[in-house]
Formats: sequence, structure tokens, C-alpha cells
Amino acid sequence: MTVDDRPISICEHLSASVATEYHVWFTGHQLDRHWVCDQCRGQFPLLPDRMVEATDGLIEHCRNTAAWDGICGTPEIRHRPSDLKFTRETFATPCLGNEPWVDIQPKPGRDGDWVVILKSGDVVCANPRQGTSNLILNLRELSFEIDDGTGLLLSSRFDYGVIFQTFGEHACVFELSTGAITAHISRGKYLTGVSHYSVAFLEINERSLIVVATDWNRLDIIDPSSGHCLTGRSPTSHNEGEQPPKHYLDYFHGQLFVSPKGNWIVDNGWVWHPIGLVRSWNLHAWLNRNPWESEDGPSLQTLADWFYFMNGPVCWIDDSTIAIWGWGSDDDWLIPAVRLFDLPSGQETRWFPGPKTRSKWELPRKKIAPSMFFDSYLFSIHDDFGTAVWDVFSGEQLLQDSSLNPVQYHPGSKEFLSVASDGILLSTLS
Ligand SMILES: [Zn+2]
Repeated sequence: MTVDDRPISICEHLSASVATEYHVWFTGHQLDRHWVCDQCRGQFPLLPDRMVEATDGLIEHCRNTAAWDGICGTPEIRHRPSDLKFTRETFATPCLGNEPWVDIQPKPGRDGDWVVILKSGDVVCANPRQGTSNLILNLRELSFEIDDGTGLLLSSRFDYGVIFQTFGEHACVFELSTGAITAHISRGKYLTGVSHYSVAFLEINERSLIVVATDWNRLDIIDPSSGHCLTGRSPTSHNEGEQPPKHYLDYFHGQLFVSPKGNWIVDNGWVWHPIGLVRSWNLHAWLNRNPWESEDGPSLQTLADWFYFMNGPVCWIDDSTIAIWGWGSDDDWLIPAVRLFDLPSGQETRWFPGPKTRSKWELPRKKIAPSMFFDSYLFSIHDDFGTAVWDVFSGEQLLQDSSLNPVQYHPGSKEFLSVASDGILLSTLS
């Protein structure tokens, strides 16, 4: 439990073990809260007279005798006046191709170039400010059709890319200089529509590598030039009726996030019930010492979990701090918030309420634009509420621009890219 998770007091019924479920009662002042039973919750906002001070022993007792069942009230969302603002410019769209693009990624570097993939398989490098658009390759002989659910990722060295079915089975790795497909990858058909394809580039010793799902419960590090697997191990599966093998992992891998210096990886996956489960482990340990690190290695940590919620926004703050969206234990009671976890300890260090993001839980799943970015500030984006800027250290909101809904961020040129009715809108925080 973090310091921020302690209740101030607990109702007499929970204290005396008369109740088996508890609700978190936010007072509206900072993160202050109480724990109350369902009966006491019905009195909200009148706090019962007979509350018992929460000691460590009593908190532990209540955790053992009562289950978390909901929230009443809201924590305080703090604001701090600032001079920050977004400056914006709109550019005509033809430079991003004459047909709708299906995904867009910032090209590494400071030039403000973007790499766009079109339904035709054309991959275009475009710069809206300069009005340029260059076809760099055409992807052919993929193992799937390109559609609105297709995703694109690029290596930081800009030597390889990967195109994948965000909520599907297939991915193809390609060489950016030639367009040659270097690896066809499948993660199997088992419930692929639930979790985002697991794929991420990393750079080790000036070499691009790729982490990718090769089964619903298996990830591998592969050499993108050849598809050669660097984390060979077996078995990771078994037939029905057989005993699970040693190291067997009963976990659906999800979207992957490699830390800025390439030391850690975070996996936004899930397990049956369904429970969204965010895990992390050390990439060097996995690549150099223990091929089973992603299954049950010593560095493996479970960071956050929620009943009935998964695929929420995640982003790195620095190489040892990850921000995970959503406070609460259950999809019905999630508070828009950011929780910060430290690695290697895996401990939650603090959280703050307020950031609203695109994080709909709907089936069938659809690819949605990323909605949490960090670059000196934390940026949270919601299609209805726009973009908010947060001081991630104090948890204060510094700016809310309800008219700005970017779909990507370019860390090199520090521009947010939005789709406007009359072109491409580029916004910069100043
Ligand atoms: Zn009570």
C-alpha cells in the first residue's frame, strides 16, 4: 500500500467485522478518504458519527475481512495557474497522401517528419510544415489485409518497421530501406480480439531488436533482419488434458512499452476472469541470462490489476517510472487518474486524479489513438474533453484545452498532430 492509499478512518461496522464489503469514501479534500460499509455509504455525504481511526492493524484486519466494493465521493483534482498554452497551425492534407491513412508514427529525429501507412500499402514520409510527401516504400505480400485496425511501429534507429493487426493475429517486420518483409509473425488465433498486439522495438548496443508475441502467452525477442529468435525456450504450451509444463504462463500478453533507455518492458495484458494485469520485467535479464524471464523470472513484477478493465493508457515518465491510467479495482468504479510505479521495486509510489483518456472497453475492440504522452509534462487526451497538461510530480493540472484532440505526438519536434476538417493541425506547448 502506498502512503496515498491509507484511509483516515473506518466505519464501526467494518471495524467490528460486521460488514464484508467496503467502499472508499473520498472527502473531496486532496486524496483524503475513509472506508465505510455499504449501509454507511448510503448516507453519503453525511459521514457516520462513529468512525474509528485507521491504524495499521485495523487496515490490515479490514483488508482480510472485507472486499473492496466501490467508491463514493471524488478525490480533489488540483489545479495550478500557469502561462502554458498550445500554439497551433493547420496545414493542407495532400502531403499526407491522397488516400486516408491508417496509422501514423513520428519519424525519429528533430525534423518533424511523420511516417504514414496507407491502405494501399504505401508508406509515406511526410512533413506538413514543409509540404513534402515522399513515398518511401510499398508493402506487398503481407500475411493480412491493411485496414483501419492496422498498426505501425518504427525502430528508433529507423532501420526496421513492423506492421500488425492491432486486435488480430498477424504482424510483419520490414526493412525500411528496401521494403523487404524480413519476418512474418503470428500470435495464434486464441482471443486475439481482446488484447492489443504485443510488439515493441528496443535498441541494444546500437542494434535494433523487436519484442513480439508469438503465441497468446508467449513473447520473444527477435532479430528484425532475419526473424531469428533470441529467446528460444520450450515448451510454453501443452495439449488439452496434459499437465502444464514448468514455467507455463497463463497470461494473455498485451501492448508493450519499452523504457526510454531500454532496460525495462511493461506488458499491458490480462488473465481470465477477465482481469487486466500490467506486468514488467528486465530486458537485459531476459536477453542475456534467462529466456524464461517473461514467464516467471526474478525481475518479473505485477504492477496494476483491475476486474473487467484492460488495455488502458500507459506511458513511461523516465527509465524507472511508469504511469498507468485508472485508479480503482473494477471497471465499474474506475476513477480517471494516473498511478506511478517504480522499477525495479514494482511499488506504486503515488497517484493523482484527473487525467481523462481514451480508454473505452467495448467489444469488438477497435484501434484507438494513444492518449497519454510524457515530455516534461504529462499530457492526457480525451475525445470529448480535449487535452490536459499535468505536473506529474505534484499531480496538478496546469492547462486544459478542450478543443485539442491530437492522435500522435512527435518527441523530436515536440508537436502534437490532430486531424482537422481543413487539414493537419500541429500544436506545440509553449
Ligand atoms: Zn458502516
